[in-house]
Amino acid sequence: MANQEDLKLEDVIAGLRAREVELARRVAAVGAEKRRAHGSLDPSFPEQATQRENDEVLDGLDEVERSELAAVRAAIRRAEEGAFGTCDACEEPIRPARLRADPAATLCIGCAEAAERAAARD
Ligand SMILES: [Zn+2]
Repeated sequence: MANQEDLKLEDVIAGLRAREVELARRVAAVGAEKRRAHGSLDPSFPEQATQRENDEVLDGLDEVERSELAAVRAAIRRAEEGAFGTCDACEEPIRPARLRADPAATLCIGCAEAAERAAARD
């Protein structure tokens, strides 16, 4: 039988903290890479265009990692408050299998699918 005990909270928090460290390291690395790139803008136009493209890639990466980092930190906070694993929308428990796949999930599968359908309608 699948229940919340299948998922040890301390294991989940340990996993989230490891993820937080990894993401924070990557966000810092992207920031350093962007500063480095800007410090040496090439005078030739084609090179500048390439650097701008690289910037866009870095910005995209930065955004994805920053938002994931925020989600991971929010999950750690919820875990510390004892609210981990509860759906933000319907307040039902989120299934352990879902939390194992995505410990930062804030919605149960039903509410996540409903939110996705709502987003797809826009
Ligand atoms: Zn829900």
